[in-house]
Amino acid sequence: MTKEVRVRFAPSPTGALHIGGVRTALYNYLFAKKNQGKFLLRIEDTDQTRFVPGAEEYIREALEWIGITPDESPWKEGPHGPYRQSERKPLYMQYAMDLVEKGHAYYAFDTSEELDAMRERLTAARVVSPQYNSITRTQMKNSLTLPEDEVKARLESGDPYVIRLKVPRKEEIRLNDMIRGWVMVHSNTLDDKVLMKSDGMPTYHLANIVDDHLMGITHVIRGEEWLPSAPIHVLLYRYLGWEATMPQFAHLPLLLKPDGNGKLSKRDADKNGFPIFPMDWTDPRTGDFSQGFRQAGYFPDAFVNFLAFLGWNPGDNQEIFSMEELINAFSVERIGKSGTKFDINKAKWFNEQY
Ligand code: GLU
Repeated sequence: MTKEVRVRFAPSPTGALHIGGVRTALYNYLFAKKNQGKFLLRIEDTDQTRFVPGAEEYIREALEWIGITPDESPWKEGPHGPYRQSERKPLYMQYAMDLVEKGHAYYAFDTSEELDAMRERLTAARVVSPQYNSITRTQMKNSLTLPEDEVKARLESGDPYVIRLKVPRKEEIRLNDMIRGWVMVHSNTLDDKVLMKSDGMPTYHLANIVDDHLMGITHVIRGEEWLPSAPIHVLLYRYLGWEATMPQFAHLPLLLKPDGNGKLSKRDADKNGFPIFPMDWTDPRTGDFSQGFRQAGYFPDAFVNFLAFLGWNPGDNQEIFSMEELINAFSVERIGKSGTKFDINKAKWFNEQY
C-alpha cells in the first residue's frame, strides 16, 4: 500500500492572506485531492510580536470563498490537532531538549548587545554575511564555550537563553526539490538558527518541522521564499532521526510585478489600482484599506481559474476549468520554474467567461 498523501497550508496570521498565499493553498489543495490525499490547515502563530488580530478569521473566510475546505484544521476535530501552534507549545521544547542532549543544539546566553557587537566586528572585518556559526560561536557565550557548571548555574538562576541549532562546519547539504531539482548548499553559509526563543516559544523552523513530522506531511508545497530555509530543515529532520520520512519539497516560483521586474507587492497593487487580496482587508495596525477580488466583483470560480494559471499550465489549450477539472488536470511537473508576471487583464478575462 502506498502512503496517504498529506499536505498542509501553514500560514502565519501576520496579516491578510495575499494572492501568493492563496495560490499556495490552492496548489496544495489540488495536489491533495488529485492524489486522494488530505489537505490540512495549520496556523503558525508562534511569533506573538507579529500576530495580527483578524488574520486567522480572514484566512478561513478566504479559503471558504474559493471553495477550499480543509480536511483537518483548527476548527475541526482531527487526529493530529490542535492545528494552532500556540496551543502546542510544550511539544516543541521537548524536541529542542532532545536535540541538545544529542549534541545537535546548544544553549546560548548572548545579550542583544553582544550579538550586535559580534556583527559589527565581522562587518568591520568585511565578512559578507555576519553569522553565528561554527567559527564565531567559539567566541560567544554558549554551552559549547562556557564551563559546564557555569551553564548549569545560568540555567538554574533563570538567565535568559535561546537554543541554537549546531550547524556542521563543512558539509554540502542536498535536497531534491520537485520543481527545482537538486539544490545544494554549503553548510558554512548557514547561521546556527535559533530554535527556541528566550520567551520559551519555538521559532518557525523548529515548530514547522516538528508539526510536519507529527502530522504525517508527505509533501511540502510552499513559496520560493522558503527555499533558503530548506537546508536547515533537512538538518533538523536528520538530527531528530526523521530523515526516512522527510517530506518531498516543492518550492513555487515567485509572483512578479506586472512588468516582470521583481517580486509582486502590495505597493504595486496600490499604485496600479488592482486587488492583491482575495477579499477586502483593513489592516488593524495602520487602518489601511485594500479592496479584494471578491468585492471588486470577481466570481470565486474565475478567481480560482486565474490563480491556477499563475505558475501552472495544463499543457493543452483548455483555459476554463472548474475546481473538479483543475483537480484532475493538476500536476507539480507542470508548474513553471521561473517567476510568473501578475496580469490583472488575465483575471478580468477569466471573470468575463463566467
Ligand atoms: N508559516 C510559514 C508562512 O507563513 C509557512 C512556510 C512553510 O510552508 O513552511 O508561510
